Amino acid sequence: MNRIYPWFEDLYHKIHLYKENEKLGHAYLILGHEGLGTSHFCLFLAQSLLCQSENKSSTWDETCQCQSCGIFKSGNPDFLLVEPREEGKQITIEQIRKVSHFFSLKSHYEGQKICVVNSAESMNTNASNALLKILEEPPKNALIILLGQSVGLIAPTVRSRCQIIKAPEPSEDEIMALWSQNEKNSFPLEPRDISYYGNSFIGRDQLKPSIKELDSLIEDLHALAMEERCPISSAKKYSNWKSSEFFNSLELLGRHLILMSYGHGLRRLQLSTLAKENFSILSQALPSDSAFKLIASINLQRNLFRRSPGVRFLDAIETIFVQWVTKTRRSS
Ligand SMILES: [Zn+2]
Repeated sequence: MNRIYPWFEDLYHKIHLYKENEKLGHAYLILGHEGLGTSHFCLFLAQSLLCQSENKSSTWDETCQCQSCGIFKSGNPDFLLVEPREEGKQITIEQIRKVSHFFSLKSHYEGQKICVVNSAESMNTNASNALLKILEEPPKNALIILLGQSVGLIAPTVRSRCQIIKAPEPSEDEIMALWSQNEKNSFPLEPRDISYYGNSFIGRDQLKPSIKELDSLIEDLHALAMEERCPISSAKKYSNWKSSEFFNSLELLGRHLILMSYGHGLRRLQLSTLAKENFSILSQALPSDSAFKLIASINLQRNLFRRSPGVRFLDAIETIFVQWVTKTRRSS
């Protein structure tokens, strides 16, 4: 039985409460960084809001077999999902015209009609303007949920028409609970949903770093943490790497550092003996939150690098390394 990640439970109940009290708005913008499971949450939420059964929202789940839920996965006429056709592509005006058409049709089940726009910052200007028209005069029973990572990347006219909600983030306990489920192979959701905290195995499919690459990164993480090396000169040797390989490999190491500090082994990572030693020294010597901070810093720099043409790859590496040195500095 699939439900949402525990950190979304409160928000889920809050929105259902709005609906019960007829206080649900027409448009929400949910902001959160990649990998929190926000898009999964929105699909779950949309299906539950459209559900026709008398079930209480607190016990509702995706296996409901009412008419509306029964066809949700294959296409419910009262639900529309809009997202870039390919990763990195824009959401076009044609896609938003479909939203307009969608809302012009009567609700199939005489309830709400819900449209979720994933990666709302991918809308180009024309698409934003077209969406704005819908937001200015939302049809009765319309609910539009935009998902984005950063408020600054959404057109101000669009976001001013939405109620903004910050996506909740997991506590450390919740992450650990998820991890131990994952260890038992009973991870309840798609592994790729949670690329930020929860899933230490994101690399399984798309990331195959070589032993040499990981060894080199570990050597630097170790030397930097021990203050034996300068972050700026260490950064240089990665500047000719593919940026995604650098960010992803480093993130993979960060996640394993967290796992190790909680006593998990390294069996999924192939490393040289020396790198294994350095890695276990690191996991024992570091303050427990430094690996979390490393991952946060990687995600921030990766987003900046991808979205701001002025940020050079080398700048991003330097910042991550400098922050790593600062965060791991032991008070002596
Ligand atoms: Zn249902």
